[in-house]
This record gives sequence, structure tokens and C-alpha cells, in this order.
Amino acid sequence: MAVYMCSKCGTLVENPSPPISGGCPAGGNHLWVKLCEGSLVFKEGLKPYQCRKCGALIYCSKPPVSSKCPAGGNHLWMRL
Ligand SMILES: [Zn+2]
Ligand SMILES: [Zn+2]
Repeated sequence: MAVYMCSKCGTLVENPSPPISGGCPAGGNHLWVKLCEGSLVFKEGLKPYQCRKCGALIYCSKPPVSSKCPAGGNHLWMRL
């Protein structure tokens, strides 16, 4: 599975393909960014990462991409 985040409202979704983009609470359509291959819950072989800026906690097989934190600029991922 892949982890996607809307870079406007910060919603996290675990989905095999990009989620439908409609209805962002921050206005207009969601703007999905694929953060990594992984999950929103712990699974064997995945490592936890948390963004210091937006607080998002995700589980990835490799370090997540840093682009477009909803709190502004890039995510600042910490390996937990
Ligand atoms: Zn959104
Ligand atoms: Zn962030």
C-alpha cells in the first residue's frame, strides 16, 4: 500500500493508487502527495516516521518524501 497526504489539509490516506481528489476542507480539491510505500498502522518491516511540523505519523519501508508539508515548506521527518 502507499501512503498519501493532502498537502493542503493534511489528511492521510492509505491506498494502492491516488485517492479521488474532490472535497478538500481547506478549499477546492485535495492535493495528494505520495509520501512512501507503507501504512498508517504498524506492520512488520515498516519503520515509524513523524513530521516535526505537522505531527503526521506514518509507517514506511523507506524514508518518506519531504515535499509539501501542510504546515508550510517541507516535512521534517524524524525516525522514531
Ligand atoms: Zn485536502
Ligand atoms: Zn509535515
